[in-house]
Amino acid sequence: MHPVDVDRQTEVSAAVPGSGGALDEAVLRDLRRTFRGELLQPGDPGYDAARRVWNATVDRRPVLIARCTGTADVLTALRFSRDEGLAISVRGGGHSVAGHAVLDGGLMIDLSPMKGIRVDPEARRASVQSGCLWSEVDRETQQFGLATTGGVVSQTGVAGLTLGGGQGWLARKHGYSCDNLVAADVVTADGGFVVADADRNTDLFWGLRGGGGNFGIVTSFQFRLHEVGPQVLTGQLFYAPEEAVRALEAFREFVAGAPDEMTCTASVWTAAEEPHLPERAHGRPVVMLGFVFVGDVEAGERVSAPLRRIAKPLAELVGPMPYTVLQAQGDEYQRHGLRRFWKSQYLWDLPNAALETFLGRGPVSPGEPLLGGVTLLSLGGAIAHVGEDDTAVSHRNAAFDVMVSSTWADPADDDRHMGWARRFHGAMAPFSRGVYINNFGSEGEERIRAAYGPTKYERLVALKHRYDPDNVFRHNQNIRPSSSRLPG
Ligand code: FAD
Repeated sequence: MHPVDVDRQTEVSAAVPGSGGALDEAVLRDLRRTFRGELLQPGDPGYDAARRVWNATVDRRPVLIARCTGTADVLTALRFSRDEGLAISVRGGGHSVAGHAVLDGGLMIDLSPMKGIRVDPEARRASVQSGCLWSEVDRETQQFGLATTGGVVSQTGVAGLTLGGGQGWLARKHGYSCDNLVAADVVTADGGFVVADADRNTDLFWGLRGGGGNFGIVTSFQFRLHEVGPQVLTGQLFYAPEEAVRALEAFREFVAGAPDEMTCTASVWTAAEEPHLPERAHGRPVVMLGFVFVGDVEAGERVSAPLRRIAKPLAELVGPMPYTVLQAQGDEYQRHGLRRFWKSQYLWDLPNAALETFLGRGPVSPGEPLLGGVTLLSLGGAIAHVGEDDTAVSHRNAAFDVMVSSTWADPADDDRHMGWARRFHGAMAPFSRGVYINNFGSEGEERIRAAYGPTKYERLVALKHRYDPDNVFRHNQNIRPSSSRLPG
């Protein structure tokens, strides 16, 4: 096992097996002959930028970063790690909350230079290399009025998000990102290469759709596309604490009857001096109900009308916007370079006691405007139309994902910010069962099991044993192979 400081979100990785000291220059010279991309060592220009990931609590120093230009580089880097006895991490978009993309002392296989995207508008397919971010995919597909389900922050990597499932504004209509995966090119732990799809390596294809980066390095994804936008209807309705209970009760009722085009959120945070909010709201808890309707804009206006009448809002921002703008809306707040702590869990319904606990977040939060928030995201729709055993993704019938996220800048504040998030999470836990594998940090093996449930977890362990018996791919939400007393 990695030494895991359970629930500090990031692993204490100084003692990762396979970590090495500086590499021998002769060995690197050989590698340079066959590797086309950049190879970065500590001290090289670009090394620090390449090892930086989204969560600034993660500060790790690989002995080598291999910036891959294609599948051949990935194969070369993987073989090199085996020959040199180096542990590896794999980087897509670098958004793993735990910072799994980067490791101390080993080899970081960095896919971020692999940016190829090809859209076939007629077949409604996109081939996407694994260094792409969702902003890049949306840009290409929206040229043709098409899209596939991606995350709600456009700077998130396609690879990690898809391999864990992939929630987003299109998921209730078109399924998770992984439900739209048609095929994947995969470099395997033994240094081989396979294609996984509905006909070839079907067990692997099953595991790639929710099992994370455990089974191989995906170098390219092929996605199914759908007609989307270019305009979608979005809304943000803000309520003072006095209206909060009424607003949330109505939200619960509205969500239960909403069509698949409609995804709703409810969140609570402490308002900053936001220009759209009246002064009396500044510095106080505020509740926001949000919605995105990905069908016809006029239909969205009709569908959302009852939600807009439920209580008197402090402010309301409703209107159509381009899908690509919607996707980028969270980018500034979710920028790289800040310290982050996330916890999340699934809710299967929303009893009054859960609503009250959700709203009780205000008093336990650290108080700084915008630095901490709690959010409910409505699920269901097409997510639940896929069978529970059809992919590795679990808990498809959950009604909501509830997430607490904390953001701060000063390491001295770590305990305070993590503390309130833990307290909120603990208070919601009696109403919850299961968790989404992409929405938490390093919380230990039990939490990974909870993401799949016992039966599916055992199936994933067997698959891991088949495709990665030595646990080469272990810097992730790790599923250890069945035989294993191996590093993990
Ligand atoms: P990375 O840190 O690069 O990789 C994540 C994991 O995947 C690592 O273990 C890595 O080794 C492995 N990996 C990466 N690429 C490959 C590959 N090609 N082959 C094999 N393994 C690979 N999730 C959602 O579902 N919906 C959202 O809307 C959403 N929004 C988010 C917003 C933010 C700001 C953040 C930080 C996260 C969000 N997430 C969301 C969670 C997100 O899905 C995960 O953090 C995901 O792991 C990010 O993928 P990545 O490629 O950017 O991350």
